[in-house]
Amino acid sequence: MLACLSAGRTQGKQPVQGPVRKTCDSGIVLKLSSATTSQGSLLLAEISGAKPSQEFSAEWDGRPIPVWRETPASPILHALLGVDLEKPAGRYEWKITWSAADGKPLACSLSVTVRAGKFPTERLTVEKQFVQPDPEQQKRVEEDQKKMKAIYDTVTPEVLWKGKFVVPLKGVSTGGNFGRRRVLNGEARSPHAGVDFPAAAGTPVYAAQSGKVVLAENLYYSGNTVVIDHGFGIYTLYAHLSEIDVHAGDPIEASAEIGKVGATGRVTGPHLHWGLTIDHARVNALQIVQRQP
Ligand SMILES: [Zn+2]
Repeated sequence: MLACLSAGRTQGKQPVQGPVRKTCDSGIVLKLSSATTSQGSLLLAEISGAKPSQEFSAEWDGRPIPVWRETPASPILHALLGVDLEKPAGRYEWKITWSAADGKPLACSLSVTVRAGKFPTERLTVEKQFVQPDPEQQKRVEEDQKKMKAIYDTVTPEVLWKGKFVVPLKGVSTGGNFGRRRVLNGEARSPHAGVDFPAAAGTPVYAAQSGKVVLAENLYYSGNTVVIDHGFGIYTLYAHLSEIDVHAGDPIEASAEIGKVGATGRVTGPHLHWGLTIDHARVNALQIVQRQP
């Protein structure tokens, strides 16, 4: 078996649902790629009918989220709604607020039903140090977590990406394991938050999009890790690399090589673990390739 504790199997099917739209006051129209979704998914949101320079605020489940225009004069604004893979099933609201020409505050919202994802549970045996780290290893784990939290708490207020997101390995279009619930050496652990791509050690890994490298170092569980900030709270993570070819702070172009596939950290064999985080929500990275904001 290889991977971050296994890989290569296809994941559960996502429900296929149609887009939904709502006409609001003063000609504003809200659109969502789906009104029903499942844990670990990504929704594309759009506000149309806006006047140039008209400003909007958006909230997803009560948290402010960014909205942006592709060009400054565009009547359409975009947002991405991330549904964390452990978000409880239920109904949530995407809400926008803006001001009418006379200054009157206006609001409009669409609700989204989140269903539980169908994620298999797997039981694996790994080296004891990766389930019961000693105090020194535990300290490293906590430092890593603090570092990652500081990164995900930062929202760079601009679009750093251009065009389409791509899978970070050449000639590969699908991976597995996203969302799997895990029992390691008999103990329940956090679900698997990325997509695993089995690949030979040394295979080049490419940036899924342009942005800025915000982490390029060895972490306890994810081994040699690169995190790229794409702006507006969107981050991609590449783990278990044998080699890192970039530095924190580097601007990065889409499809630039960032390192090589390896088996560092908590793994059972060489593979690439690819993660996508949107405003702290851990979502299936393949969806940003398939759905193309
Ligand atoms: Zn993984």
